[in-house]
Amino acid sequence: MPSLISANNWIRISRFRAPNKIDVILSSSPENIAHAAKSLRSGGIVAFPTETVYGLGANALDAQAVAEIFRIKRRPATDPLIIHLADPREIELVADLSNPAVRRRLQQLNRFWPGPLSVVLPKKTAVPDAVTAGLPSVAVRIPRHPVALALIKASGVPVAAPSANPFSYISPTTAQHVVDNLGEQVSIVLDGGPCEIGLESTVISLTSEVPEILRPGAITLESISKALDTRVMRSLGTVAQGAAPGPGMLREHYSPHTKVELWDRSSRAPSGRVGFVSINGSQHDRASLERYEAFRALSADGDLEEAASKLFSTLRELDRMGLDLIVVDTCNREGLGAAIMDRLTRASARS
Ligand code: AMP
Ligand code: MG
Repeated sequence: MPSLISANNWIRISRFRAPNKIDVILSSSPENIAHAAKSLRSGGIVAFPTETVYGLGANALDAQAVAEIFRIKRRPATDPLIIHLADPREIELVADLSNPAVRRRLQQLNRFWPGPLSVVLPKKTAVPDAVTAGLPSVAVRIPRHPVALALIKASGVPVAAPSANPFSYISPTTAQHVVDNLGEQVSIVLDGGPCEIGLESTVISLTSEVPEILRPGAITLESISKALDTRVMRSLGTVAQGAAPGPGMLREHYSPHTKVELWDRSSRAPSGRVGFVSINGSQHDRASLERYEAFRALSADGDLEEAASKLFSTLRELDRMGLDLIVVDTCNREGLGAAIMDRLTRASARS
């Protein structure tokens, strides 16, 4: 529920009592965006909406503010952050584009911005090591959510922002999700409504000869390959195997507290209180669903965009029900299906 109190009132109230679950959510009015931008500029932390998931932002050039993000999320220092900018022309402030081949490829990817694509490039020294986990590369994105764009513009600084959730839990797709998890630790959460896409951005690296998808998302491998007019690799880390995952490729991620299993048509019916999440509601007949404590169809007819947008909030809802098990449906790993299956595989990876 967005708070209607203005930024000024909010400051006055919060001086007298610790921010509670209502106080920290601010409507995305121009005044509140200006207030949040000012906080970012002076080293503060702001949670804000993007079209993918809600982000937890700090001035990317302020190492202390960035350290605060890692502390709040309990995120390992080895997991780098994506820098959010308002305009592709600002990329040069944080990335080294002296290699003409990299510059050309970046230009070819311009058509996806503003949007749910993060590109990994050689970094400039101005970017603190804390942001990139000591890597010589930096990830950049121009989000398309109007509140994110307005906030970044008004702040006048590059904004480092991971998803606004405790490390390895499900990413937030509403302002209330952020408050549910981090309400005690974040003093400004801008409310921009539910996220349109609902899955984290596609991450593509341009630091090697063959471009590599490090994390599948709404911008598909197929469309990136077409834009670059070249073969694009799918990172091995994203198939949830291998002993030494790269940054952000941890096998177990995006996990509810409740155990999650991928649905297998041939396996025996699980016992106990079980929730079932279907991707395509029309593929499951009523009778076979009666044994489940809860049944949620992400889409009535297998529309993957709709399914993606509801996936995280549905997992959160079932996670609150105290179930013994959540069984999730599967889909083809093509197009957006690759991103959905990537998240589901990781959510079910707990040993
Ligand atoms: P999050 O913002 O929580 O969705 O996660 C950001 C993800 O972006 C990381 O976990 C990595 O997968 C990826 N990333 C960010 N910076 C880099 C980088 N320099 N090299 C490779 N991957 C990166
Ligand atoms: Mg994250």
